[in-house]
Amino acid sequence: MAKVSEESGTAATELPVEGLERLVRVLRDDGYTVVGPTRRDGVIVLDELESADGLPFGWGVESRPGGYRTVPRPDGAAFAHSAGPQSWKPFLHRPRVKLAEFERDGGGLTVREHREPAPRYAFLGVRACDLRAIAIQDRVLTGGRHASPDYRARRDGVFVVVVECTEPGATCFCASMNAGPGVEAGFDLRLDELTGDGGHRFVAVAGSAAGRAVLARLGGRPADPGTVDRARREVDAAADRMGRAMPDLDLRDLMAGSLEADRWNDVAERCLTCGNCTMVCPTCFCTTVTDTSEVSGTHAERWQLWDSCFDLDFSHLHGGPVRASARSRYRQWMTHKLGTWHDQFGESGCVGCGRCVVWCPVGIDITEEAAALAAESATTTGPAGESATSSGPAGESATASGPDEGRAR
Ligand code: SF4
Ligand code: SF4
Repeated sequence: MAKVSEESGTAATELPVEGLERLVRVLRDDGYTVVGPTRRDGVIVLDELESADGLPFGWGVESRPGGYRTVPRPDGAAFAHSAGPQSWKPFLHRPRVKLAEFERDGGGLTVREHREPAPRYAFLGVRACDLRAIAIQDRVLTGGRHASPDYRARRDGVFVVVVECTEPGATCFCASMNAGPGVEAGFDLRLDELTGDGGHRFVAVAGSAAGRAVLARLGGRPADPGTVDRARREVDAAADRMGRAMPDLDLRDLMAGSLEADRWNDVAERCLTCGNCTMVCPTCFCTTVTDTSEVSGTHAERWQLWDSCFDLDFSHLHGGPVRASARSRYRQWMTHKLGTWHDQFGESGCVGCGRCVVWCPVGIDITEEAAALAAESATTTGPAGESATSSGPAGESATASGPDEGRAR
């Protein structure tokens, strides 16, 4: 994906469903570890695919706040499912990364930086929301002060096969976050899956030189304009069938003007501060570093682990945690995601994948919380966005900019 072409409008190719197997074979022959969706233990997860047979043909998903199950589909579609518990995050931004090893030998101490060879990934079946999430993590983890060599090594050269979404889930809201369901750039290959009239097939478009080279080896035939039109219409229709939507207002202003809202007390009574939402979120990137040592005292290791702003230790400063209550921790997460993320990175930290809604054990729904904050704001200060405490231009927000200043207390 790093070599996405400047050109657009590459001719569309129609591939029969058997083309998926050819695609997996070509990518594996080229040395890629192909990762894609597969159904396991009643859930659609992402894992290495040795063949297209592993794809979840004939399975869809029913989701709700705090609930998820796979359901059979008569059309045999392979990509008619909304987001599962995993995003692509664990493959690029690993939950556990060994950073260094320390050996004590006699009177000396040897310190070795630890680096592992990175797999050469091909991601098959990336959705628009997750593609945006990868771009967000790229910004954080490949540049600036917090770049991760491990992330960069894994990210470089990933071959990205996007599949546009035509079956949004009841918990999806990417359309209202301008993060889907269609994809215009940032992929090597883009697929649109069609079933029904004309048979089970795909419309494929290359988005890079690497994508064109792979597509040329898949066979297929030029897609006729009617088929291309139908594929576009189905993606456009998906945007109108999202199960949820964020309130249509300036969320950054809403967050900045809601720091003392009563709603935080309400959500604090439900939130378990378990951190599930941060683990499943494709954009959350926080980590901590921990050292472990053998009892002998001769060997120690330094590890980077995913962390969560819901963890009490996350904001531990001298004297104790800055955010000791569930109210302050949920507020930190949500105001960062929807508000101060703009100050840091110039866009929202939420792509509307709905995972935090589904995998919250008590079904807390970020869209419902935003709507409640908007309603409270409207009753106390007039329409959201006109609040006396709302922010001005970027960087002038009441919650301030920068990684640390953005932490609500
Ligand atoms: S919002 Fe839900 S998933 Fe997130 S910490 Fe609270 S209880 Fe856990
Ligand atoms: S905050 Fe929730 S809906 Fe938004 S990107 Fe994260 S997991 Fe997805």
